[in-house]
Parts: sequence; C-alpha cells; structure tokens
Amino acid sequence: MCKKIKSVKIAPGCISCGTCEAVCPAVFKVTGVAHVKEDAPIQEHVDLIKEAEYMCPVNVIQVEEE
Ligand code: SF4
Repeated sequence: MCKKIKSVKIAPGCISCGTCEAVCPAVFKVTGVAHVKEDAPIQEHVDLIKEAEYMCPVNVIQVEEE
C-alpha cells in the first residue's frame, strides 16, 4: 500500500536532465533546474514521485514520507 508523502524537495545539485518531469509532469517542472510545482497534487502521484526520486541521476529529489 502507498504511504503518504509529507513533502517533496529538490536539493541543490540538479543537472537539469529532465527525468523527473518526464516521469511525473504533474509534480515536477524543469526550468533551469527542477522545481516542485506550486500546489502540486502530491498525494495523487506518490508512486511516480518515488520513481522520479529513484531515477534522478544525482539523487537530489528528497521525499519525506509521513
Ligand atoms: S531528475 Fe534530478 S537531475 Fe534530473 S531534472 Fe529532475 S531533479 Fe534535476
């Protein structure tokens, strides 16, 4: 069963590869560096957010679970 996510943050060091936006465009936007969209529907995309976290080549996506 999916856990809930408390917060998603992008730490410094993003190399703008675009993977997170490709995996979950509802939550991530890459403009220069990656950002979490304002009012992103995080709880509706828990699995994709975790996939993006796993796939980020420099491990800067920080997912805090509840
Ligand atoms: S996957 Fe990681 S390195 Fe690539 S754009 Fe997203 S945060 Fe940046």
